[in-house]
Amino acid sequence: MSFKKLLANTISSILFLLITCNAFAETTIKGVRLWHAPDNTRIVFDLSGPVKHNMFTLTEPERLIVDIEDIKLATSLNKLNLKGTPIKTIRNSSQNGKDVRLVFDLFSKVNPKVFSLSPNAPYGNRLVIDLFENTNTVAEKDPPITTSISSSSLPKKAGTRNIVVAIDPGHGGEDPGAIGSGNRKEKNVVLAIAKELQREINQQPGFKAYLTRNSDYFIPLRQRPQIARKLGADLFISIHADAAPKSSAYGASVFAISDRGATSETARWLADTENRSDLIGGAGSVSLDGKDQVLAGVLLDLSMTAVMSSSLDVGQKVLDNIGRTTKLHKKRVEQAGFVVLKSPDIPSILVETGFISNPAEAKKLSTKSHQQALARAIKTGVLTYFQKNPPPGSYLDQTRRTSQAPAATTHKVVRGDTLGAIASKYGVKITEIRAANNLTNNNIQVGQSLTIPAR
Ligand SMILES: [Zn+2]
Repeated sequence: MSFKKLLANTISSILFLLITCNAFAETTIKGVRLWHAPDNTRIVFDLSGPVKHNMFTLTEPERLIVDIEDIKLATSLNKLNLKGTPIKTIRNSSQNGKDVRLVFDLFSKVNPKVFSLSPNAPYGNRLVIDLFENTNTVAEKDPPITTSISSSSLPKKAGTRNIVVAIDPGHGGEDPGAIGSGNRKEKNVVLAIAKELQREINQQPGFKAYLTRNSDYFIPLRQRPQIARKLGADLFISIHADAAPKSSAYGASVFAISDRGATSETARWLADTENRSDLIGGAGSVSLDGKDQVLAGVLLDLSMTAVMSSSLDVGQKVLDNIGRTTKLHKKRVEQAGFVVLKSPDIPSILVETGFISNPAEAKKLSTKSHQQALARAIKTGVLTYFQKNPPPGSYLDQTRRTSQAPAATTHKVVRGDTLGAIASKYGVKITEIRAANNLTNNNIQVGQSLTIPAR
């Protein structure tokens, strides 16, 4: 055997060994994260490869057991903050030395869902455990804002209703959104702006603003407009600060849904990026109920035309006002197929407050003063829109009618006046004058002041 041949054989043997070793290398649990939403807790395991799992529950005491085959735990489960969750402790053991058994000791019964996610940047293989809580049985919890808002909690003026604005901070939890310079995450920046906007809108008489999420957890895209519908929202505003294909790009923009493709390449690119949110955040355990599937089917049909024109209208007013605060990326409302804007009945806009991929803009977006300025600008646009288009029965509608109605006048009775003569002089009915002055008969007296109702 020549030296060359020997060398070649040795190399191929080494390669074979390396490859086989790699094939039998254990899959590991590399990391773990926990997100706590008002009605569910999500635990996400980062894995070095795909796994097989099996899940079952035990009662008295309540436990959830998840068995994962051919895997090794290479991270600590102790670092998770379990406060406020239905989980007492998480234990791990092994049945045969090759598997991992995870035991979740629970405070109360939960509805668990376990599913795998295939790699999606920035994540590799993941195993997700969702624990849905029966919020009635879990003590010491914040009131769930997203799931159980009854109509009685919506304050009402006598005979009128508030205009309801649903503010949707984009991304959250497992989905960080775009990540800008200085590790600034879109999900945190947009939550801060959304909270400012909620505060601004709630200061307006006749308005009530709600957030789709008020802390750091993920909501699947289609659930966001569903929350708005449950709130009886008159307007849905999704707040974002995405990355642009070019880091030099800057400026704010406003988007509405489109029924015929995107209005620009950037709009298409952004909608595609946004619509990946469910893959990153992991919407695997969420299914639309029957009613919402019907809704999903009628999306973008003719009934949306009026809503789309309202969306463009309010969007333009918001954009014009933002333009007084910050540079605009586009001066017109752009349109593309954003899943989160697909409400057939609620005007919906997506506000890109700026590009977090631009270092200067990322820095600005993280300051309280700029967040407040953006919130005020969006609020002014929203107010301008509703002042021109007050929903029937709303407080704004009522005050507009009152201010437009001609004022009542006063008539001082002189000698010779009769109620009939006064009525015909002002073109109103005798009964109307009597009602306005609490008169029980037609008798009037000289010098008496009569309120004459407006015609
Ligand atoms: Zn975004």
